[in-house]
Amino acid sequence: MAHLITVELTKEKKSKPAADKLGFGKYYTDHMFIMNYEEAKGGWHSPRVVPYQPISLDPAAKILHYGQSVFEGMKAYRTLDGQIQLFRPQKNWERLNKSHARLCMPPVDEDLAMEALERLILVDQDWIPEEQGTSLYVRPFVFATEPLLGVASSKEYLFIIILSPVGAYYAEGINPVTIHVESEFVRAVAGGVGNAKTAGNYAAAMKAQELAAGKGFTQVLWLDGVHRKYIEEVGSMNVFFMIDGKVVTPALNGSILEGITRDSVMQLLRHWNVPVEERTISIDELYEANRNGTLQEAFGTGTAAVISPIGELNWNNEKLVIGGGRTGQLTSRIYDTLTGIQNGNVEDPFGWAVKLGG
Ligand SMILES: *Cc1c(COP(=O)(O)O)cnc(C)c1O
Repeated sequence: MAHLITVELTKEKKSKPAADKLGFGKYYTDHMFIMNYEEAKGGWHSPRVVPYQPISLDPAAKILHYGQSVFEGMKAYRTLDGQIQLFRPQKNWERLNKSHARLCMPPVDEDLAMEALERLILVDQDWIPEEQGTSLYVRPFVFATEPLLGVASSKEYLFIIILSPVGAYYAEGINPVTIHVESEFVRAVAGGVGNAKTAGNYAAAMKAQELAAGKGFTQVLWLDGVHRKYIEEVGSMNVFFMIDGKVVTPALNGSILEGITRDSVMQLLRHWNVPVEERTISIDELYEANRNGTLQEAFGTGTAAVISPIGELNWNNEKLVIGGGRTGQLTSRIYDTLTGIQNGNVEDPFGWAVKLGG
């Protein structure tokens, strides 16, 4: 079904930054998508593409006080033959609505969201960078705007999609990161909102991230909030380990975010007949595997970096070096294959790539 999405084009196009200056989330395209939700007006209305612009909010808007806010992240790529493609976008809309359900926010029509995204990307398609490793990052987000301080879910929301051309995540090639295993702070607990992509999870993670960065580590490895023992995520990525020829990742236990890259990696491994298990993994098991020489590779997964190899863990002053601190063979193969499918350079046996405008 076609929806009535109106388009208002900008009168003043911005100049585009050079590919090597892009970084991550620093520049935004000429347009954005926006639509309103008002319970009193029957729900979502006025879907529109408009020039990229500031929004005005009542100081009492509920997002500012009680944090009802959900977001998504995905990437659009320009393929070598000039087409535009997304990677499993439907999964993002499904997850958006799962996050909404947890935060008492009204669901968004997934077909409308997809149509909105297509319209917006086509309007701003000149902004999709073409250099190797670059992409157009897509950030949909929804937040509560009702000006009312009573603690109850908002009856008004905005849904916005902004686009940001982003650079190659690994400007100097894919390199393993050093990780601080966090034993004081926790990111989330089962029953909380750790499995929803909501802004507050990021605010909650900043303290540990900042302290770890101050000690020279790139990321934090989160342990579970109850036993402080089981592996959950790394930074804002899901995490995988290869132990004795098997790949393991923490099972979705209610406090872990269900990453789309995580799911894709598991499907890819199964396709390659590499054994993969979702289960609880304790930090002791990793140190034990390292002692007996069976801890072979480790990597994080998420849309921004796709695959981030882990070279070193540091837990209670005990350093554990994985694979000699170099990117593992399987890790590289996954990275090359996934990024290849995403940018259209590698055949996609899974039907994950979704072409736009045709
Ligand atoms: C978004 C996110 C991920 C990764 O999800 P992808 O769909 O693979 O991008 C992992 N953990 C957290 C906490 C996240 O917010």
